[in-house]
Amino acid sequence: MKATALRMSTLFLRTLREDPADADVDSARLLQRAGYIRKAAPGIWTWLPLGLRVLNKVEAIVREEIDGIGAQEVHFPALLPREPYEATHRWEEYGDNIFRLKDRHGADYLLAPTHEEMFTLLVKDMYSSYKDLPVTLYQIQTKYRDEFRPRAGLVRGREFIMKDAYSFTIDEDGLKQAYQDERAAYERIFQRLGLNYVIVRAVSGPMGGSESEEFLAPLAIGEDTFALAPSGKAWNVEALTTPAVEDVDCSATAAMEALETPDSKTIEKLVDQANALHPRQDGRQWTAADTLKNLIIAVKHAEDDEHERPWRELVAIGLPGDRQVDMKRLEAQFAPAEIEEANEDDLKAHPEFVKGYIGPRVLGPQAEEKEGIAEPVHYLMDAHVARGSAWITGADQEGLHVFNAVYGRDFEADGTVEAVEVRQGDMSPDGSGPLSFERGVEIGQVFQLGLKYSNALDLKVLDQNGKAVPVWMGCYGIGVSRALACIAESHHDEHGLAWPAAVAPAQVHVLATGKQAEVFEKADRLVAELESQGIEVLYDDRPKVSPGVKFKDSELIGVPLVAIVGRDTMSNGTVEIRNRDGSDSVAVPAAEAAQTIAERVAALA
Ligand code: ATP
Ligand code: MG
Repeated sequence: MKATALRMSTLFLRTLREDPADADVDSARLLQRAGYIRKAAPGIWTWLPLGLRVLNKVEAIVREEIDGIGAQEVHFPALLPREPYEATHRWEEYGDNIFRLKDRHGADYLLAPTHEEMFTLLVKDMYSSYKDLPVTLYQIQTKYRDEFRPRAGLVRGREFIMKDAYSFTIDEDGLKQAYQDERAAYERIFQRLGLNYVIVRAVSGPMGGSESEEFLAPLAIGEDTFALAPSGKAWNVEALTTPAVEDVDCSATAAMEALETPDSKTIEKLVDQANALHPRQDGRQWTAADTLKNLIIAVKHAEDDEHERPWRELVAIGLPGDRQVDMKRLEAQFAPAEIEEANEDDLKAHPEFVKGYIGPRVLGPQAEEKEGIAEPVHYLMDAHVARGSAWITGADQEGLHVFNAVYGRDFEADGTVEAVEVRQGDMSPDGSGPLSFERGVEIGQVFQLGLKYSNALDLKVLDQNGKAVPVWMGCYGIGVSRALACIAESHHDEHGLAWPAAVAPAQVHVLATGKQAEVFEKADRLVAELESQGIEVLYDDRPKVSPGVKFKDSELIGVPLVAIVGRDTMSNGTVEIRNRDGSDSVAVPAAEAAQTIAERVAALA
């Protein structure tokens, strides 16, 4: 099959010598300078011929792998009516993040940020029996989100391209299978795209549902932080769990005693007072790590079977004094309820709480039989606190703390909780060693939606017994334009882009460098031969452009293989063939050049 070369003498391209003013990351800077994309408005980009070729290749890889797992491609409009999004409450939930508009009759529309509703309604429209399932549908389509801060070029746009797939199965096992298939296809896609990725377990966001994983490209420009274990496993910070801590032997620990600690409402002051008034016998200093803070939070529940209105519940959290509480991690464990620190009114309702001196005595199990405590609050212990460990903690009296309070001996909790911030160096959940924190860009997400959308939009089919049952759904997104940006972000040097062969705008960049007509004739001949072999060529046939400019542009544009027809070709009849970075340079007789290029193209594939 013949390929038509892109001739730079006529190609719609202007490379820029200077960085564009607002390019905040390398990929945005280089994609603009090398003439792949052009800014239309903040977060909105125009694709130029070179850019569109790369985009088409990225899409083709995504399409091949998603077709390969049996999903079928459809295409929805981006402009959609309000009603379906109203039914799932997403019209409101998306807040300012969606573009809303009205038609001439005053009816509400939106530019879709994702298409769960439409896919659900389409399947409802056309299918009615378990015999129709499973089915997975997908599209590669333009999405709109009015991002608060569009940034990093294609990484966070307001108009962008997403592959979104949706699986429909009769039961949860079917969903799990569809999820695994999609997940495996993602791994193949990102490998083929030349993208490094880690898979992190996510906590479900506003989409609701259960199991979900994110594919992150580990890049410094990313807005997501993830925790990485030496084993290569990775976690979203909110999803991290602390490995079980071993019990501590407390047989030699002295009995608990209450000691004077005036003016010690903060951990810092408490440590100072403890060292000043009650120094340890072993010569070591007391530190914040010896103290146990008891934090009262308010959990805000929605109405449920027992409560007609949203209700508020106080919960006490015990945590080591040298660690900060991480409200986001903590909240993830109370989802869908929200949490906040207890306010003055909350505390007033519990006269047993002495601010700055709250201790286990008035919390959870030990508070149950106590006089004056109407309704003891639930007491949860942070997962870092070992049974058998001894603590300085509040004695529920102004100016008094208990020392040698042993967890499991002197007090109990109602359960454990992940309450504190995770630190660099903490043990990883799989026990493979200390965690480190890295930054990444979310390039894809797989999500077990469960029944949320089927219930909201009443998607049911008849099962084997003729009973109408809701359909299990999964949704699976890849940021196609974002992935392209991440490829550029991870494949470039100071001179320009350096595409992996699988997505490069051409397979070889042929440069005709010289003034003589003969150079161009020889280069034309080579290009014609490559075209007839079906090799994709970017051909710098610009007359009156200096070799220096052609070499610079070639490095900027970043085609993996470069062939130079120029001075050497005229003096000794050879064509230089080398990689984009100058490596593996060979000089071959002009007559063999096409053959050598074809072999090297095949080797790169
Ligand atoms: P983020 O947290 O980065 O805003 P998201 O979790 O909201 O992304 P999803 O709703 O999961 O995004 O969308 C599926 C995929 O679409 C994401 O994994 C990401 O690759 C891509 N994507 C999301 N928002 C944008 C955007 N503003 N620009 C480009 N790609 C995006
Ligand atoms: Mg996501």
